[in-house]
Amino acid sequence: MKKNLKSIRTTVWIYFAIFISSILFLLWFSFGISLESTYKRTKIQNIFDIAGYILTGWSADEFTVENLDRIAYDNNMCVLIQDAYGNTVYSYDMMANNCLIHSTAGIQQLYKHRAEALKSSTGIHYTEVKNPRFNHNTMLFVMVLGEMEDPSGYIFLNTSLEPLDSTKDIINIQIFWISVMLLVLGIGISYFLARLIETPIGRITKSAKVMGQGDYTVQFDGRGYTETELLADTLNHAAEEISKVDTLQRDLVANISHDLRTPLTMVKAYAEMIRDLSGDNPVKREEHVNIIIEESDRLAALVNDILDLSKLESGATRMEKSTFSITRKIHEIMGRYTLLVEQKGYSFHLSTEKDFEIEADVIKIEQVLYNLINNAVNYTGENKTVYITQLIKDETTARIEITDTGKGIEPELLPLIFDRYYRAEKSRREVIGTGLGLSIVKQILKQHNFKFGVRSELNVGSTFWFEVKGKVTGDYNEEGQGDD
Ligand code: ADP
Repeated sequence: MKKNLKSIRTTVWIYFAIFISSILFLLWFSFGISLESTYKRTKIQNIFDIAGYILTGWSADEFTVENLDRIAYDNNMCVLIQDAYGNTVYSYDMMANNCLIHSTAGIQQLYKHRAEALKSSTGIHYTEVKNPRFNHNTMLFVMVLGEMEDPSGYIFLNTSLEPLDSTKDIINIQIFWISVMLLVLGIGISYFLARLIETPIGRITKSAKVMGQGDYTVQFDGRGYTETELLADTLNHAAEEISKVDTLQRDLVANISHDLRTPLTMVKAYAEMIRDLSGDNPVKREEHVNIIIEESDRLAALVNDILDLSKLESGATRMEKSTFSITRKIHEIMGRYTLLVEQKGYSFHLSTEKDFEIEADVIKIEQVLYNLINNAVNYTGENKTVYITQLIKDETTARIEITDTGKGIEPELLPLIFDRYYRAEKSRREVIGTGLGLSIVKQILKQHNFKFGVRSELNVGSTFWFEVKGKVTGDYNEEGQGDD
């Protein structure tokens, strides 16, 4: 593992820390730092709204004192309305004589700014003025009512532009506690989040370690998230596949060792017999030597199968194509089984009406026929019957079928038997088998692009078939000559 990689927990914590710091910064900034300017902006807007409201009410003559009091109180505002002669028509003092427009100290300011409003083109004048008593910034607003040349009155509004210290304190305390809660929550949530993510990954890692030690039965559990579940499913599938290969390899070693040991034991036993007993007896000696030769052949066949398959699978073999009659080839091969017919009572039923010529690798096609016929002999039933049929499907296709009358193959095993090293049973057979025969058949037929397959019925028998491409050259006669 690379050292500079961070764990999920650290990463989640780092991102959460960044997230919470950003929120805290925004909080302190907007409440703490920008509180005053926001407050000021809102207040100025407030003043204009109220002035507008009073103006509308004044023109329509719709005011009651309660109305005005409520507006002033709700908006924390000192209000003074004068008539054209400067007499007070209405007054609301929020600050008990300390409001600028009601205080004696403010009276000069009042007249000064009223004059400014009268001078202005809009009849409105407003400015920031300090309240000398509390040293507070306040906003003083003056508006002329009626015509500018002949005013009917004046509205004076005055409000503090700074939030109250108590308000500031309350907000600061609240922000402090919100920050503390955010920190605690952030640490808690990031801890649980990291654990939630880590848990299924941890479970998968633990199972992977078990699998690494060779236990492929281990189950990967990725519950919690779609992604981890998908990962667990993939690993379960991988474990299953590795386990299959593992079993197959083990079976192969067991099969091969078994098949190698039997002929080797025989070779050794008969060689010892010749040395100790039959060396001087020519008849016995020959019999024993023949057994040694036969067993050596079995060994050679086995080793050849293994080599053939590994070469076929790695693509190392090249096809040596030639044109030949497959019909004649089948008859020729059947001729070599006469010993089995005569000595062991097998009966072969050969049916080939037409002579069919194909272009293929003759040695490899022979190997396919041998393997399929050997299997039929090995697995056929008590009646020892094997059928070999060549059917002409169409002008360019002939189908070769090898049928036995054995106990058949279970339907669920059918897809497996062409796999390497697969053997349904480990019984002794007439002809040596390695569990590789059908895989060799499959590789060769695939190389030739010939279709192949099997159908089987339990207790009736199996039919292995393949289809070759070529042409009919005429009827087939026993001499092996196709005639037109
Ligand atoms: P083997 O050397 O074991 O015969 P094959 O690859 O030729 O290896 O066959 C694989 C397995 O397929 C066999 O072990 C057997 O279980 C099954 N099989 C093949 N041919 C037949 C058949 N004609 N009838 C029943 N089972 C068969």
